[in-house]
Amino acid sequence: MMHDVRLGREFFARLLAIDAARAEQTRVAGCGYCEGPLSVGHYERKPRGALFASAGEEFTQRFSYCCSREGCRRRATPPSVRFLGRKVYLESAILVACALVPLIDDRARVIRIATGVAARTVRRWMTWWRTVFAASALWVELRSRAPSLDIDLVPGGMLAVFEGGSVEARLEAAMRFLSPLTTGPAWRSRSPRAAI
Ligand SMILES: [Zn+2]
Repeated sequence: MMHDVRLGREFFARLLAIDAARAEQTRVAGCGYCEGPLSVGHYERKPRGALFASAGEEFTQRFSYCCSREGCRRRATPPSVRFLGRKVYLESAILVACALVPLIDDRARVIRIATGVAARTVRRWMTWWRTVFAASALWVELRSRAPSLDIDLVPGGMLAVFEGGSVEARLEAAMRFLSPLTTGPAWRSRSPRAAI
């Protein structure tokens, strides 16, 4: 069951390695607007909740860069498997918290302790899955893989679509799948900013 999930250090290390590799690709490619050199402008993050007890320093930054060219200075934020939103919460926290949502009325405190995500925030994220995610190309792709998957069962039911012998493996596969949503114009223009 999702509420019994324990995420180990290796899991977090693997996610960090994926993000670090993508961040390096972004940095080397330079500014997407003017091709100017990029400098570091990482966002500070603070993972919370028992689920992340074994996560270390590697979860305190969302990789991001700024163009160093005068007059441009645009942001370049690579896609992430660690952070779904632009603010505090880790993607795995959001996925697990939302997967537990049928239990939310009587288990809100438990969910908060496990994931660090408050019940109110989980509810806002559930709206995100039903609106932003439901309108995305990723949802269309997911439905082509699992035609019987109903949007009302996302994200908990979505995890079953991804292969893996453990909850960690499924989570990782789901996070890789979702990572295009973590950056770019679609995220910027349609995110429920208050929710994150
Ligand atoms: Zn630039």
